[in-house]
Amino acid sequence: MALREVLGHQRLVQLIARSVGRQSLPPSLIFSGPAGVGKRLTAIATAQLLNCTNRVGEGAGLDGCGRCAACTRIARGVHSDVILIEPGDNGSIKIEQIRDVVERSAYRPFEGRCRVVIIDGAEALVPAAQNALLKTLEEPPAASVFILVTPQPDLLLPTVRSRCPSLRFAPLSPGDVAAFLEQHGRSAAEAHAVAAAADGSLQRALESLAGDLVQGRESAEQALARAAASEDPRRRIDGAKDLLVKTSSAAGDREQLAIYLRSMSSILRDTALVSLDPEAPGLANADRRETLSRLARTYRGERVLRAFNAVDRALAALDRNAGVKIVADWLMLQL
Ligand SMILES: [Zn+2]
Repeated sequence: MALREVLGHQRLVQLIARSVGRQSLPPSLIFSGPAGVGKRLTAIATAQLLNCTNRVGEGAGLDGCGRCAACTRIARGVHSDVILIEPGDNGSIKIEQIRDVVERSAYRPFEGRCRVVIIDGAEALVPAAQNALLKTLEEPPAASVFILVTPQPDLLLPTVRSRCPSLRFAPLSPGDVAAFLEQHGRSAAEAHAVAAAADGSLQRALESLAGDLVQGRESAEQALARAAASEDPRRRIDGAKDLLVKTSSAAGDREQLAIYLRSMSSILRDTALVSLDPEAPGLANADRRETLSRLARTYRGERVLRAFNAVDRALAALDRNAGVKIVADWLMLQL
């Protein structure tokens, strides 16, 4: 994750790049702003830039290469000079964690050019830990940078805040979030629907997609099992309700059904493979092998192909703005 890969925040990223190039990056910084917008990733990219042995670009475009030993070790979290501190199980960052890094920062960097201490969730520093950090923030050891990452800088002691220039990360624009999701294989409609509800947080967008996908797969499995269990049209149409979710808009309802149908498509593809070879490798839903084997007793040969094509046609109908209830009912009768 280099600076050039950070989504949005162009002005901040350029500011960091320029400062590192001029060797004027402040030795202690606060990255503040809402959760899930890329503060921690930017901190890690900054650590890469500081330690990269093969920097690329210049001026506002200066960046880590992302490939040298330093960059890759930092990305993997195993570089001995880049230390990430987070709240422990009890939700706070204790004084021992801070004493340890303060002690270590008294020595020269071990393998890199610059020691970078990233404290993610800095609002969770207990007051004693903040006080232990104060002197270090005041007189930072040579070749050390401390980055305090927090959505709530107000919870830090004023003495800590006053020693760290703050870079404020704004919420991402829905356009940026949608573009990212589209680049990562989401349909335009889905990307925009999710981005619109994500409040400028990429993390929230990804979480809601993951939630939808998990729910979508369960609903798709249920609907397939119901269709397998009965030839009675009324019962089957009753099963369509597994696929229908009321959202706040007709477009949202359609997008939800589309997510479920894409899950169904993926399950049917795996079911076809399992019906031919119970040990088939390379399943997209490998964690659902038991369910797939059960479905494969019904969905095999002609029938699995027919079901697969029906899902495809249902998705095409949704694209043409067909009503969700009509599409779901029709599909249940085809499975
Ligand atoms: Zn590098």
